[in-house]
Amino acid sequence: MISENNSQQEKVVESNPSLESEINSARINALELKLETLSIITESLWNLLEDSELDSRSDLKGEMAKVISDRAERDTITVHCPACDSQEKANSGYCRHCGEKLSYSGEISPFDY
Ligand SMILES: [Zn+2]
Repeated sequence: MISENNSQQEKVVESNPSLESEINSARINALELKLETLSIITESLWNLLEDSELDSRSDLKGEMAKVISDRAERDTITVHCPACDSQEKANSGYCRHCGEKLSYSGEISPFDY
């Protein structure tokens, strides 16, 4: 049922270039915001690491493995888009199908939105 709805919506989007353009523009804006946030977080973490007693070379690989595992776990949480009812990852912030902002009341990492 959900995949039929998605398929119908994709046809509507494909036959409407201005709607497709609007959705792509919203996606690009969301990506730019995400990149900016990521850049700020990375610089902040780097500053904290430089000020700490930790050896960044020895701790980085282990921490990366933990982050990958934590993200995979967070990616399994889904919510329904309020506009098109498609099932979306809770941490994605915006619906992949219609661009609607998603809300999730659970805990979200600063890296997710
Ligand atoms: Zn949607």
